[in-house]
Amino acid sequence: MEFFDVKIRKTVYRIKPIRRKRKSMQIEIEPDGKIKVVAPIGMPICLVKSFVESKVGWVEKTMNKLDQMDWIRLDDFKNSPCESLESVEDRMKAKAESVLKERLCLYGKSMGIQPNKVIVKSQKKRWGSCSSSGIIRLNWKCVLLKPEVMDYIIVHELCHLREMNHSKLFWKEVEKILPDYKDRQDQLKKIKFEC
Ligand SMILES: [Zn+2]
Repeated sequence: MEFFDVKIRKTVYRIKPIRRKRKSMQIEIEPDGKIKVVAPIGMPICLVKSFVESKVGWVEKTMNKLDQMDWIRLDDFKNSPCESLESVEDRMKAKAESVLKERLCLYGKSMGIQPNKVIVKSQKKRWGSCSSSGIIRLNWKCVLLKPEVMDYIIVHELCHLREMNHSKLFWKEVEKILPDYKDRQDQLKKIKFEC
């Protein structure tokens, strides 16, 4: 396996370029922070390395932006003892909507797919669903899960825009985006639904 190391934000990253039949090189930061480099078949690895090195500034800027995306933490909402529970929940729901929509848009962009509409609401028994008319519904409580589990729900529903079932083809689509989706799925299965 060919690879090279590049220093980004004081950390050394091992880059393993993906070789494709194409003429140009491409670098991408995936929503989970992974660096994806695509290079033409036959291009010397030293050229791929210098291309990536020339993009370090952009990579660092993009990673900083990803870090700033704020996740909802229950603790952030607990510090107001006089506030009624309903109003805390309302504020959390509003925040959840913007976090979920932003994250879904990010994954959608990297997959080249966008739903016709995203609805974030309370759902009694489901984390998310996708209709044949291209509407994705997400339970606002997804934001209370671990980010990697939340991402799994988002990617799962986005993949339904391509495959409206749970066929082998569907799981292949999920795996393309989240190779470790089975671990995330197991984590989700362990969470009891209490709405
Ligand atoms: Zn599904």
